[in-house]
Amino acid sequence: MNFDFTKASEACVKCGKCVPSCTIHQINSDEVTSPRGFLELVGAYQRGELELDKNAKDIFEKCFLCTTCVNICPTSLPTDLAIENIRRDIAQKFGIAWFKKVYFFLLRHKKIMDFSISLGALFIPLLFKVDKNTQSMKPRFSLPFVGKRVFPRLNRKSFLNTHDEFIQNSDSNEALRVAIFAGCFSNYHYTKTGDSLLKILKALKINVLLPKKQRCCGAPALFTGDFKTVDKLIRANVDYFETFLDEVDAIIIPEATCAAMIKEDWERFMSEDEAMRARIKKINGKVFMASEWLYKKTKLLELLGGLDVKAKENITYHDPCHARKVLKVFKEPRALLGVNYNIKEMSDPAQCCGFGGVTMQSEKFTISQKAGTKKTDMIKDTNAKVVSAECGACRMQLTNALDKEGIDTAFKHPLELIAEVI
Ligand code: SF4
Ligand code: SF4
Repeated sequence: MNFDFTKASEACVKCGKCVPSCTIHQINSDEVTSPRGFLELVGAYQRGELELDKNAKDIFEKCFLCTTCVNICPTSLPTDLAIENIRRDIAQKFGIAWFKKVYFFLLRHKKIMDFSISLGALFIPLLFKVDKNTQSMKPRFSLPFVGKRVFPRLNRKSFLNTHDEFIQNSDSNEALRVAIFAGCFSNYHYTKTGDSLLKILKALKINVLLPKKQRCCGAPALFTGDFKTVDKLIRANVDYFETFLDEVDAIIIPEATCAAMIKEDWERFMSEDEAMRARIKKINGKVFMASEWLYKKTKLLELLGGLDVKAKENITYHDPCHARKVLKVFKEPRALLGVNYNIKEMSDPAQCCGFGGVTMQSEKFTISQKAGTKKTDMIKDTNAKVVSAECGACRMQLTNALDKEGIDTAFKHPLELIAEVI
């Protein structure tokens, strides 16, 4: 993917509409950490007026890639693309930190990832207390670098390795058939998400294919500038998806970041490979976020309406940036949840939670925490017992932020909430 920094920079009319809503600017109110500032800097870089030194690296790594600015900008200037591309140049110049290299190696080698997670799960209880309800783990004592931070649980068996490849829920020739793309969070950590989706599909008599060789969508590597890993993962997934595409009505994804990566970023990333783009376009005709597909293409709403739920629990719904701002999916999960739950809207459900990617969660975690606290204040004000979002990254960020602030609100994926009432 080649990006014209000068064109994007010159297209910015400096109106400033994007600045007040920018996630990083709200935390660090400096022009250089704003969409307008980022675009000015990438233009200066391309003109040879800005050296990519450690200071520039630090500035460009502060963007959350939340796409709030792209949504607000009158000409939808792709600040996110500019940041992703400059991070590639930064990664080429400075290299990638060793722990990220290890993580991306594991993402590229699924069998080793499966083995490593399962091995880690054996030893984790020595250091961490595992909570099966929240599917998280918290250090038993303050650990170097991470303190008492809450992490997603490691499972001995991943979601994909727990279930059969084909799950027959109907003998009818008319029955729908879907493939599930789980995403790494739902596959290795928050496995209740996939289990809940299977329960819902069973209730709807929809047959299921669990493609076992699916790989990471590539989002963590893209946000970090490791384009070689992204390229490998996209090509491996496209080759594999084509082997079953004609056998299914849809490929559904219970994770906003993976869905946005596949539906939007894969094609953008392959902008110079026409043949690849055509193959991705064909696949994308069948790719949906899980809530969107269940709402639009099945009788789930009808099924939920027929249930006798007497005491409706109060919940609040957080909009993952990749669902609301990129894929425009926000009505569907609310419509499904609203049948059996009281949704108490928070003051700004679309405000970014502050997850921000691997770098933000490691080297820039203090900034991420500040964004998380803004969100937990909103959640607390609703007095809801549960906060929900169709995204494992938001779940990791909010679970940790709620724990840090001592707020007693549990996180549940919308599919978990739906499966609980079925
Ligand atoms: S993507 Fe988010 S954090 Fe980055 S410049 Fe845009 S609004 Fe700010
Ligand atoms: S809204 Fe768009 S044109 Fe206006 S300052 Fe922001 S990026 Fe530039």
